Amino acid sequence: MASTVLGEPMIISMRLHASKEEVAAAKARIEEFGYKVHSISGEERVVIGVVGVGDVTACLESLEAMPGVERAMRISAPYKFVSLEFKKEKTRITAHGVTIGGDEFITMAGPCSVESEKQILESAEIAARGGAKFLRGGAYKPRTSPYDFQGMEVEGLKLLDKARRVTGLGVITEVMSDRDVELVSEYADILQIGARNMQNFALLKTLGKCGRPILLKRGLSATIKELLMSAEYIVAHGNPNVMLCERGIRTFETATRNTCDISAIPVLNELTHLPVILDPSHAVGKRSLVPPLARAGVAIGADGMIVEIHPQPEKAMSDGAQSLDPKQWMQMMQDLQPYIALWKKSRSAETVAV
Ligand code: PEP
Ligand code: MN
Repeated sequence: MASTVLGEPMIISMRLHASKEEVAAAKARIEEFGYKVHSISGEERVVIGVVGVGDVTACLESLEAMPGVERAMRISAPYKFVSLEFKKEKTRITAHGVTIGGDEFITMAGPCSVESEKQILESAEIAARGGAKFLRGGAYKPRTSPYDFQGMEVEGLKLLDKARRVTGLGVITEVMSDRDVELVSEYADILQIGARNMQNFALLKTLGKCGRPILLKRGLSATIKELLMSAEYIVAHGNPNVMLCERGIRTFETATRNTCDISAIPVLNELTHLPVILDPSHAVGKRSLVPPLARAGVAIGADGMIVEIHPQPEKAMSDGAQSLDPKQWMQMMQDLQPYIALWKKSRSAETVAV
């Protein structure tokens, strides 16, 4: 099958205070070369993101010779569409009428796995009561042992759909294989790609064409660059709606299930315009440690978080030890409010500064 990659993107950086006419002329030249303007950012200095397939060198040379153009260049980062070089403003992703990457800190909550109708409906009701905007719950579970619960599959998807109708929450659920992308897309508002599948390139390519927002989890031993390259696969194949998720990485430390790379959040915010979500539950593996990490996530500039909760964690079929019970969940959300208020303040200050 022919590749559907969008072609190598470029950026055109206009001179400071370039005139409207100069920007319009640059856009016209871009189009003459068969390229398309993907994004225009900046007020004082306009930066144009360009996509398409054609004679890159000739197009860049021609643009550089134009009045008002300071530089026309290829993007130096190996990840291109997702880099901050290509697009300065944070990507806003709308799913189920909720915007992620905007001026609300978004919380997704629910059990690790969908286990029964009663369990998922109760979970959804608890999640909504605490202020979550999305219900999480795995219907397809990537389990380390083949003897562990593997998920309810299609039945689980149908139960998530029912929970959405009852509570009004959006649904996020994992898809493990490219074969299931179409089916899961019918039920989910956001597709979750698990840590173990971060470099499943066949899956990433299929996600590029699926038209649903994606939450891409960082692989167990993946570097930030590898995470960004995986996101680049999805975007280069046509789907710009990707959010990244820090969920802890594997280190020598055994006090926690994984080591939460909390600095990944500001690092990503310096490298990419994609929204960044923290998963404090898988990062630590122990419920008492989830609220302090959630607090850190808000304070350090995540765009949202995804948290495991369960009506009765002691009975959970997976990840009970890290799931908050209803009381702990409500308490955590209440305790986070002052931090979220500060988060909002700094977000609106940033928006004004742009
Ligand atoms: C999960 O969200 O339940 C999960 C399996 O996460 P991860 O892929 O991060 O391990
Ligand atoms: Mn889990």
